[in-house]
Amino acid sequence: MSGDNPAQEQRFHGSGVSPGIARGVVHVVRDDQDDVARYRIQPNQIAAEIGRFEAALIQTRAQILEMQQKIAEAIGAKDAGIFDAHLLVVEDRTLIDEVLRKLEAEHCNVEWIFQEVATQYADTLSKIDDPYLRERALDIQDVTRRVVRNLQGKAPKAFLALAEPHILVAHNITPSDTATMNSSLVLGLATDLGSRTSHTAIMARSLNIPAVVGLHDITGKLESGQQVLVDGHNGVLILNPTPDTLWHYGELEHRKGQVAEQLTGLRETVSTTRDGRHIVLSANIELPNDIEAVARNGAEGIGLYRTEFLYLNRSTLPSEQEQFETYKCVAETVLPHPLIIRTFDLGGDKLAGTIDTSDELNPFMGRRAIRFCLEHPEIFKPQLRAILRAAVSGNVKIMFPMISGLHELRRAIAMLDECKAELKREDSSFAADPDVGAMIEIPSAAISADSLAPEVDFFSIGTNDLIQYTMAVDRVNERIAHLYEPTHPAVLRLLKAVADAAHAHQIWVGVCGEMAGDLALVPLLLGLGIDELSVGATLVPRVKRAVQSVAMPECQQLVQDVLQLDTPSAILERCAAVAQSHYPELFL
Ligand code: PEP
Ligand code: MG
Repeated sequence: MSGDNPAQEQRFHGSGVSPGIARGVVHVVRDDQDDVARYRIQPNQIAAEIGRFEAALIQTRAQILEMQQKIAEAIGAKDAGIFDAHLLVVEDRTLIDEVLRKLEAEHCNVEWIFQEVATQYADTLSKIDDPYLRERALDIQDVTRRVVRNLQGKAPKAFLALAEPHILVAHNITPSDTATMNSSLVLGLATDLGSRTSHTAIMARSLNIPAVVGLHDITGKLESGQQVLVDGHNGVLILNPTPDTLWHYGELEHRKGQVAEQLTGLRETVSTTRDGRHIVLSANIELPNDIEAVARNGAEGIGLYRTEFLYLNRSTLPSEQEQFETYKCVAETVLPHPLIIRTFDLGGDKLAGTIDTSDELNPFMGRRAIRFCLEHPEIFKPQLRAILRAAVSGNVKIMFPMISGLHELRRAIAMLDECKAELKREDSSFAADPDVGAMIEIPSAAISADSLAPEVDFFSIGTNDLIQYTMAVDRVNERIAHLYEPTHPAVLRLLKAVADAAHAHQIWVGVCGEMAGDLALVPLLLGLGIDELSVGATLVPRVKRAVQSVAMPECQQLVQDVLQLDTPSAILERCAAVAQSHYPELFL
């Protein structure tokens, strides 16, 4: 910014992590590291230093628990869980033992030693290229400041006791800061550090405060008292917004408000194209708790229930009875709509402590999903039995993941038949003939879809995996994320082959990968003949709006056009143009 003209507008770009627009006066908080003096102690004072250290850790723990309680009451237990990471720091044996070792070796005051050890620990973590570990480094810094203040006998820092509404700008905003700030006066947040998964982002979203993080040195560039606008949608902070900019944002806010209102009104409507074709629009869920959002967003049931989440974060396998009760409850809640239960897909990036799927060089191509299940009937059959029993209470369908070909599909169906026979012998109540589907997410299955179709009642295309296997691009590797292209001509041809094979055998075909929720690609999927789209619940209203805005002939024409194109970007551009022309308001 030119110093001569303080009113000049300037834009800074970061990541928009909490949507919304806020304008107001900046309050910049610079990290004021508390000065920690270093002084020598006598050997006979070591025990007293250890005592002071232990007392400070206990006091810090109590303060964290108190903050956790406060946050839980204000915004809910889920967000207060962030403080669990802070509690782990005060209980970290490696850190504490290193402090005690140095105290014996160096004979210095414990606040100095603790600050040294903890800072080194945090520095090491922050240098590792892993967002999770970088967050842990920030947790350690936050807790370190608190422990040091307690050792110094100072009151905990009350972060931001400002009395006026303001935009808070800081190097980083920690969970403790959020707990002590008066959030009703914080109009927006902007920080040097942070990412989508950073605590600032999580808290800002919970508190509904527009936020832009990862602005590098924004604390060095702004001064308290300046006027800014925070655009949490696009990740922009605008210093000294001009009247034109303010007008533009005023309009945008107004229009976004209108779109949000219209989308709420869609809840009870059906996802039918302008020319009357009904596309079933369902939701994906991971946990039974997600179910509340399904009806709230107007989905027609559940198109993908990722049951493997039942197996994660626990030390024992879920029993048949536990699974039965869970599936029954979900099935009853979504009635009369269908619940498609995907049998568990462990392996790849989803590892359960109870099941050994991890020891492989190439886990995404390893003993994953149905491959593991077929090798372990003692684990797979209780799930199949639980599903068959729960299907009595609802509109339940079963779907097998990672099917690569006919043999595997037939073995899975045979195991399901064995379970039916067992239940019959036991005189248990079960659904004799629930619909069975195959996920199509491996290129071999897509290419041979015509041989799979006669064996099942439906296909559901898992584009997340289908794209990664088609293009040999690991779906969780951020370094090659730019190579992961849903509009690659090869992907399109596979989708077309699957849809055509399904219809040739009179079965329906859905898409339950993330591609189904990509608004630019909805007309393409409809044009390919996809009958069902299953997306994250919060996306349902937008996808419904997209479906309602188009007519089938123009979607089919789009497919004809893009099949002639040979690059992913050209195909994407063409799809985006059609989508933008029909529902531009969703791209605001
Ligand atoms: C997919 O692969 O597209 C899919 C829906 O399954 P998951 O993301 O659970 O692998
Ligand atoms: Mg998959």
